[in-house]
Amino acid sequence: EASLQKDDSAPDLKDGKGYKGHDMLAPFTAGYQTTDLHPLVIEKSEGCYVYDTNGKKYLDALAGLWCTALGGNESRLVAAATAQLNTLPFYHSFWNRTTKPSLDLAKELLETFTARKMAKVFFTNSGSEANDTQVKLVWYYNNALGRPNKKKFIARAKSYHGSTLIAASLSGLPALHQKFDLPAPFVLHTDCPHYWRFHLPCETEEEFSTRLANNLENLILKEGPETIAAFIAEPVMGAGGVIPPPATYFEKIQAVVKKYDILFIADEVICAFGRLGTMYGCDKYNIKPDLVSIAKALSSAYMPIGAILVSPEISEVIHSQSSELGSFSHGFTYSGHPVSCAVAIEALKIYKERNIVEQVKKISPKFQDGVKAYSNSPIIGEIRGTGLILGTEFADKKSPNDPFPPRWGIGAYFGAECEKRGMLVRVAGDNIMMSPPFIITPEEVDELISIYGKALKATEERVMELKSQ
Ligand code: PMP
Repeated sequence: EASLQKDDSAPDLKDGKGYKGHDMLAPFTAGYQTTDLHPLVIEKSEGCYVYDTNGKKYLDALAGLWCTALGGNESRLVAAATAQLNTLPFYHSFWNRTTKPSLDLAKELLETFTARKMAKVFFTNSGSEANDTQVKLVWYYNNALGRPNKKKFIARAKSYHGSTLIAASLSGLPALHQKFDLPAPFVLHTDCPHYWRFHLPCETEEEFSTRLANNLENLILKEGPETIAAFIAEPVMGAGGVIPPPATYFEKIQAVVKKYDILFIADEVICAFGRLGTMYGCDKYNIKPDLVSIAKALSSAYMPIGAILVSPEISEVIHSQSSELGSFSHGFTYSGHPVSCAVAIEALKIYKERNIVEQVKKISPKFQDGVKAYSNSPIIGEIRGTGLILGTEFADKKSPNDPFPPRWGIGAYFGAECEKRGMLVRVAGDNIMMSPPFIITPEEVDELISIYGKALKATEERVMELKSQ
């Protein structure tokens, strides 16, 4: 996961003794952290809780990395994996050979997406691979249509689309670009729809959305619409700080994209399967995408799997041109891995049987209102979110123009205070993110709010102390 401001905001972790100086080149971790500090080593999970190697229990307020939707010990997912491992642990899906779980999952998935009709599914192992696949598929499509110049992508500042070369290029977080010679030249970035941070004085949400749509149109016209292939967006931005769209944003953005024959890719890697209280983010914001990326809750993270959903129009072009273009020469050994697919089929079944979308809708006001009740804290700029996703942005004087000095590490301090009290949140600079499992109970929400409140109080005191020095 990407850090908004700097890589080294993780708290000093005292657990996991004996693993200091371990042998992993760890993702999104600074080298000195692994040599100077003890990692937090998680050993076991149970419902919404995880346990470290010292037996300490934590409420997992981020659901792993926004992904363990059904929590830590869903026995039906384990049974589905075990049964598939005992029958057929692996066969691939290349050259028109495949397996039944992958075929069945593709069919099921198409039925889950109702914002518009989708026609085909391509399987990957992750969200990053899904977004890389999107870019290659769009290029292939425009080549098939004889539009070799229509190849550029527009993404948004503060977006997160993954960390492979292309997905990191699409992402709009400087930490993913600096030191990696990214973004790739075919990727352009437009405004982040973060109203609180970027609106002009007296500008309403609607006016802000209009301005952003105009800026997008101007960028397209400057570059030449014939060169722009696709626009990619998360319905609610996740790792960039949990940023739900301002009013009328997607309506206006979609109109611009459509006007210039630019494809719309919805990155639903975090939002899909109920996170926002709707099956997909597209349902919530009336988005009619041409392509969709999914992962995470697809298998509730019990096995790695991602996918893209492809519109009938795109799949028709690819299909009808296939005798000339030959095969779609793209895929991974584990595309449609039968064990991952079997687990995902079971996860979808559970979501349906338990009416998980309704469950999220029902619990989310308690979660949202309970945490947002702290909005008047003098150190909080904004708390925002919807469904079971929530971001807190710390700011001095409650103003987007007055960040705390990064060396104060206010976000990291709050994260460490939560951890001390038995709760894990995501820290990125002075942004805190939470996205608990869909199965969180009212009692667990109370616990989350209580720990949040205590950590906030400690952080307020810390700010006072730093200010008085
Ligand atoms: N897209 C979004 C919106 C994400 O949040 C993430 C992961 N946090 C990804 C893509 C990348 O997924 P993965 O880490 O599985 O490659």
